[in-house]
Formats: sequence, C-alpha cells, structure tokens
Amino acid sequence: MAWLVMIASLILVTWIVSLFTILILSFFPFTNLRAAPLRKRNNVLLVIAHPDDESMFFTPTINFLTSRRHNVQVLCLSIGDADGKGNIRKKELFQACVALKVPMQQVKIVNHPDLQVLDGFGKVWNHSLLANIIEEQITSHCINMIITFDNYGVSGHCNHRDVHYGSFSHVSSKLLYDTLQKDIDVWELVSTNILRKYSGPIDIWLTMIWAMLHSSGTIQYLVNEHPRRSYCAMAQHASQWVCQSMNFVNEKGDRDE
Ligand SMILES: [Zn+2]
Repeated sequence: MAWLVMIASLILVTWIVSLFTILILSFFPFTNLRAAPLRKRNNVLLVIAHPDDESMFFTPTINFLTSRRHNVQVLCLSIGDADGKGNIRKKELFQACVALKVPMQQVKIVNHPDLQVLDGFGKVWNHSLLANIIEEQITSHCINMIITFDNYGVSGHCNHRDVHYGSFSHVSSKLLYDTLQKDIDVWELVSTNILRKYSGPIDIWLTMIWAMLHSSGTIQYLVNEHPRRSYCAMAQHASQWVCQSMNFVNEKGDRDE
C-alpha cells in the first residue's frame, strides 16, 4: 500500500512541477526558437476543415504568430453544416478569430456543396478540389507559410486528414505541388497518441526533449502565451459546447515541417 501512495505522490508532484513549467514558459516569451522561418514576418495560411478547429487545435500557434505580427490568413474548408448549423458556425468562426486577433477580413470560409454535404466522420472530401481551393488562396495572398493538420489530423477526423492530403499531395494537384516548390514553408500539427494527449502538463517534458533532438528546428513546440484568448475564442463556439471539452488551453502546438 505504501508504494502505491509513493507512486501517486510522485505523479502528483511531477504534474504540479510540469504545470508550473508550462506557466513559466507562457509568461516569458519563447527564446528557444530554432526555426529560422519563424523569426521573420510571414504571410501565413492556416488551413482547417471546420469552424472551431482553429480554437480546438491551433490557438497556441495563432497566438504565437499574431503576437509576433505575422500576417495570418485562415482558410476554413467547410461551414460545418452536418447538423444544419452551418450559418451559426460561420459567425462563430469569425468571432473566434477576432478573439484571437485575426481580423475577419482575413478569414475565408468555403461554402462548396461537395464539402458541406459530406461533412462528418467517414465521408471523404475530394483532395483535388481542396488542392485547387488552397492553391488559389496561396497565390491571391502571397502566402509563404502554410500550417495545417498532419496525416492523422489530431483527432483522426477524416476531414482533417483530407485537408492534409489536399494541402500536400502532388497527386491531388500538380499546380499546388509546383506552388509548394517555391519558397513556401510548410508546417503540420503533430498528432500524439492517446497516452500523451491525456497526460496533461506532464507531456511537456517529452515534447521538449523531442524538439531538442531535432536541432535543425524542423520540430518546434509552442506553449500557449495567451490562454485567456484561447478561452475567449472557444467560448464563441456555443453551438458546439455539447460535444467539446475546454481542455485545449495550454496544450502545446507541436509542428513538424
Ligand atoms: Zn474539425
């Protein structure tokens, strides 16, 4: 019994120390930024699948970018009309972006019939269609950095994965592939396994070590510097409160090139 208490105490102490480490990192500007492209100002395109993806998954990233005056454009590839709440969710996305210091005019929400009707798990979006939409946005806004999901899409949602493949696959669009060969940095949000995802602040250690092992800066972790903004952004998505938790704040944004 004594060893059980010892293990529980150790976990508790580690959890508290980890939480304080994250808080300290969030109060002091990030100093260990090794990725050179992030040190200059960029025209950044954040590509997401649904209204609320920006608040659920990318707020540490958006807060980092807006605080350093990068020009952030948000491209949402659907209005999330699976439950018939598409128009409400559109407004919520605009309001959330304003809370995250991204002006409404820099948010584009695609309302394409092929992307709305098929919204939801198990429905695949056409990657070539996505690629064409993304390519148009890149050229019209002189984008030099793209940020989106990795090939698992954090939650495994098929639309998140579609966005990844639509963004990066040269099979989807030769035009987009040619565009990406130009001087454009591409970052993706790294999905973690369920153990890491729900280990709370303790995961900060593994994340830091993992990033340090990639001395070239191809893996970068970001601690949320403005968690209050993130809460405000998530609070705008009232139509989704039933099925979402508020545990996104202070999750790190691991990104891989
Ligand atoms: Zn989503």
